Amino acid sequence: MKLMIIGIDGLSFQMANRLMKNGICPNLNALMSQGTFKTLLSTIPSVTSVALPSFMTGLYPPKLSENSLKKSSRLLNFAALNKKTFWEYCGVLSCIVNLRCTYRPRPFNGLMISGDLYTPSENSGYTFPRKLKHSVKGFHENMERLHRPRDKSNYLQIAIDDTKRKINVFRNLLSIHSPDLALYWDGNSDLVQHYCFSEAKSINHYFMALDRLIGRVYEKSQPENILLLSDHGFDKEPEYTFYLNNWLEKKGYLHLKWGPLRAKFYKMIMQLLSKIVTAHPSISRVVQAKTEAKGSSCFAKSYPSVDYRRTVAQLSRGWWGVDINSEMLQEDEYGAVRNKLIEQLSGLSYFGSRLFREIWTSEDLYGVRAFGTVLPDIYLVTDPRCKLLGGVASNMLTGFRSKEKREGDHYNSRQGFMLAQGEDVVSENPESFSAEIVDIAPTVMSMFSLKIPRSIDGKVLPIFE
Ligand SMILES: [Zn+2]
Repeated sequence: MKLMIIGIDGLSFQMANRLMKNGICPNLNALMSQGTFKTLLSTIPSVTSVALPSFMTGLYPPKLSENSLKKSSRLLNFAALNKKTFWEYCGVLSCIVNLRCTYRPRPFNGLMISGDLYTPSENSGYTFPRKLKHSVKGFHENMERLHRPRDKSNYLQIAIDDTKRKINVFRNLLSIHSPDLALYWDGNSDLVQHYCFSEAKSINHYFMALDRLIGRVYEKSQPENILLLSDHGFDKEPEYTFYLNNWLEKKGYLHLKWGPLRAKFYKMIMQLLSKIVTAHPSISRVVQAKTEAKGSSCFAKSYPSVDYRRTVAQLSRGWWGVDINSEMLQEDEYGAVRNKLIEQLSGLSYFGSRLFREIWTSEDLYGVRAFGTVLPDIYLVTDPRCKLLGGVASNMLTGFRSKEKREGDHYNSRQGFMLAQGEDVVSENPESFSAEIVDIAPTVMSMFSLKIPRSIDGKVLPIFE
């Protein structure tokens, strides 16, 4: 086997470093000591349903479907992705197991078992070829329990057993089919962090088990090269919500339909409703989906309370950027308005630090102009202690109280990791280049001596000879 890729969903660079240094992941540590270990930057927003399509295709989100510009809750169907993946470009015999966002599998030279995210259920056709399902029956039977746990008492053990079984399936497929390229994606690492982030003991326990399983599969199949990576980092669940539309209204970019008194009353109601919405993120996801559904035009007119004849900017679809209303501006005014907004947003500071860790224009981030398109005009990476929320309420910043059992989140955690080791890996100074998740596809393709098509956004990382 030329290359084995192991994805560890949501393992941050910082956490990977800690687990290796503290002896919790000795197998990963051994690989790191002979290879290259560095930060791998995720997309904005840093969620799996946006980051993984970029990983598979080497394309930035604007070239993927409009779905990838929305929030993670929107399903990204693999068939609708409609772009070639790196294993399809490579064309070598491949084994792709448990990779999220690959339901429903499409024909290619190899075998696929779609990952947990967006595979509807154990009963669905999640394998290619279809007949492969007979020999892997039960692969997704824990999906419901892991994604929506009723209680957490046995959660960790279910996750560990589930991972063990899945990696064993992967190992068996490798020994039967001897592919040139193999990929296993661990989704449970993401779920365990969502539900147990503050319990260091549980986290250590899970990663210790995962490290052992990875060590075993590596030992057994002896790939010439191995590449480990994650699609985003992780942080604690946010403590605050920030109403960006409220701030935009204060600064005169957004206007409500009514006079001051009615507007005040409306904001009070919204404030009350927001308590319910933040307590039940499932409601928040429905509200968000509703506002997104209305947004097929460049500037979504989704809030009934907003006077769109006077509104220049609002929180974007997906709640992670700013949309500027191109109908209100001439093209030559656009740059100045956006620069002013960026300057004001940069000055916002709470809890002793800047509210936005990163602020980007779409030109700087993706080399694409946003004026008059569905793309957000400004991309924001918020302090992970805070979550942006749609609507206009009376308090700009409010405490966040979730009734779900979640402990961790990663909406603004871009710092994933990558680790490469093997015969073709150069021992490059880790500081000498920066790596993004979009770079992985072209890097793998170049390893298989493919010419990289010009349409691909990612660059070839100097990690392989
Ligand atoms: Zn993820």
